[in-house]
Amino acid sequence: MGEDTLKQIAYLAAALKAPRIARTAARLADQARAGGWSHEDYLAAVLDREVAARNASGAQLRIRAAGFPAPKTVEEFVFDHQPGIRREDLAPLLAGHYLAEARNVVLLGPPGTGKTHLAIALGVAACHTGHRVLFGTASQWIDRLHRAHTQDRLAAELAKLKRYGLIIVDEVGYLPFEQNAANLFFQLVSSRYEHASLILTSNLPFARWGEVFGDQTVAAAMIDRVVHHAEVHTLKGASYRLKHLGTDTLPSVAITKQTN
Ligand code: ADP
Ligand code: MG
Repeated sequence: MGEDTLKQIAYLAAALKAPRIARTAARLADQARAGGWSHEDYLAAVLDREVAARNASGAQLRIRAAGFPAPKTVEEFVFDHQPGIRREDLAPLLAGHYLAEARNVVLLGPPGTGKTHLAIALGVAACHTGHRVLFGTASQWIDRLHRAHTQDRLAAELAKLKRYGLIIVDEVGYLPFEQNAANLFFQLVSSRYEHASLILTSNLPFARWGEVFGDQTVAAAMIDRVVHHAEVHTLKGASYRLKHLGTDTLPSVAITKQTN
């Protein structure tokens, strides 16, 4: 390719805010000439590199902004250890169809069964499919909403959150909510209903959410909205954290045995 043409491409790529095109254009032109590509094939290859690079860097930005507590992926998840969910169940969720339909995902199950791991893995997948994601524990979400409420900007905060395609609320039920917190949480759930997705995880079955929200009516209204368009998976079995101790062995039990 002529010097002048390359300079012009660099200038045009900068104007398009796609400086990578300037770098790939010359390299791919050599490949194209050697491989006898058509003009269309060459243009498609250049644009394809740009789009792939943009998607990847966008996904990395979204992953960093999401606030995941640890990097977890579905590849690291050992399905053989978790009878409550199959790889085939997860595949459509990873593809993100539920996000387009503003449906929710609820992961229930005892501690250590992989709820947080899968919630993060789904969040990461959502970032890759172009969605903005925010992760927090139920208490972190309550703190955030409470702060907004006391500063008289709850409505603005909820409106801002609605622009996130996915909000993950981890650990619903570890701590009971006060009345005010339960109301704030209810508003978060209502504001997203049929607009944008939620992933909730809980160690408690729905029947016990009344204890968490301190009020059966609020809990019932919440569950109604969450579950109306939701996929619920119940994870089972012994904690993965304790698996080296053998099935169903809790540390306290092991200690008691040792001291006897
Ligand atoms: P939960 O949120 O249900 O209490 P976590 O998702 O935090 O459980 O899992 C506890 C730890 O065990 C995490 O480090 C997680 O990555 C790991 N873990 C849980 N289940 C599996 C699994 N089936 N395969 C691989 N790692 C798992
Ligand atoms: Mg967890």
